[in-house]
Amino acid sequence: MTVINDSGAAEPPAVSVDVVFDHDHIWHPYSSMKTPGPLFPVASAEGALLTLEDGRQLVDGTASWWAAIHGYNVPELNQAIQHQLPQMAHVMFGGLTHQPAVSLAKKLVELTAPSLEKVFFTDSGSVAVEVALKMALQYWQGQGQGESKRQKFLTVKSGYHGDTFATMAFSDPATGMHHRFSGLLAEHLFAPAPPLANSSWDPTAMEPISRLLADNHEQLAGVILEPIVQATGGMRIYPAEYLMALRQLCDRYGLLLIFDEIATGFGRTGSLFAYEQAEIAPDILCLGKALTGGYLTLAATLTTQRVADGIAGDGDGTLMHGPTFMANPLACAVANASIDLLLASPWQSRVEAVEKQLQQQLEPCRSLPLVADVRVKGAIGVVELTEAVEMNWIQPRLVELGVWIRPFGKLLYVMPPYIISAEQLTLLTVAIYQVVDEMAQRSRGE
Ligand code: PMP
Repeated sequence: MTVINDSGAAEPPAVSVDVVFDHDHIWHPYSSMKTPGPLFPVASAEGALLTLEDGRQLVDGTASWWAAIHGYNVPELNQAIQHQLPQMAHVMFGGLTHQPAVSLAKKLVELTAPSLEKVFFTDSGSVAVEVALKMALQYWQGQGQGESKRQKFLTVKSGYHGDTFATMAFSDPATGMHHRFSGLLAEHLFAPAPPLANSSWDPTAMEPISRLLADNHEQLAGVILEPIVQATGGMRIYPAEYLMALRQLCDRYGLLLIFDEIATGFGRTGSLFAYEQAEIAPDILCLGKALTGGYLTLAATLTTQRVADGIAGDGDGTLMHGPTFMANPLACAVANASIDLLLASPWQSRVEAVEKQLQQQLEPCRSLPLVADVRVKGAIGVVELTEAVEMNWIQPRLVELGVWIRPFGKLLYVMPPYIISAEQLTLLTVAIYQVVDEMAQRSRGE
């Protein structure tokens, strides 16, 4: 456990992490017990810095999978939890309610006004997406178009919406999810991935999805995708025009449009929600990750009056979901504080400054061998390689360079806390350039 001394600084932990036990007994995300990768025990985190148990400090380029937008050990967020804790850490949400949840729902409704008015709290992003799917399915059941008619969704390739069984079915079929669990995953319709935003908008890009919708709309409950940036499925940035045209298509066929903003919500792409860039709104919206500033696990699914009325049209209108930790008061309290802090901060100019610096400092990577593309959007910087990184080499090397960046596949990317300093951000981009250069040398056998 990290101890805070009189000066407020974190002291190294008295008992070090038993990494051997960890390797032998604990699964980490997408890890193998047979060949576990290197692990780095963290003692504490502050601002944009992670302090390892051995005292090394790493500039965090991940914001803990994009959630810790304000950085770590944030006084306002700590206080929100400390204030809520003695009142109640948790109470069930069935038949009970509380101020943190109501206050948070009010904020979310205000932030997404005038379109989204109804809120369902869940405890993770994947489950928020599951709830979105249930909302859409129950909406159609409420229209008398039940199970047999509209059970499928349309999505786009290179997307990602979670690791549960319903959400895995929306991962690109080219990923491992489908072949490992084939037969168990629902079959949905996949349009080609949206075009990357690096050339001028070509409306013919809509033709494939337009055809799929024309041919199949009668069996569809809705369309689901990540607006503006497809994150886990490839860190692909695409034009707002695609979303505008998709909104029109959904309207033409009366289909529900579901946006998964679990990765993009709360300023990451330069607007509070990415869909604002297309000047449209979804019928259902999923939020998570940065909702609590990365402090606790909480997600939310929002929808419109129309969809809620539609759901209510089915029998007694019960929305069939209700997790144990729904609207956890501690998580809601810290989410309220995180949103207040974000809105009171100059987040837009911070994200813009990060964007500008990433554009300038990652661009030189383009001329390196092994680099296929460099792309930046808001506080997201991506270097796509021509070959997959070797995690057992690159991860320790990045740590040696003083940064915490977690590449995957062919992608080296950063999504840092918005409060990162220009110097800290430079350390991240310099480290990326350095490792890509070294990768090229290694592949030449130097
Ligand atoms: N949707 C998107 C767009 C995501 O990026 C993620 C997580 N990477 C999820 C859903 C799943 O969220 P969680 O890991 O909280 O279940």
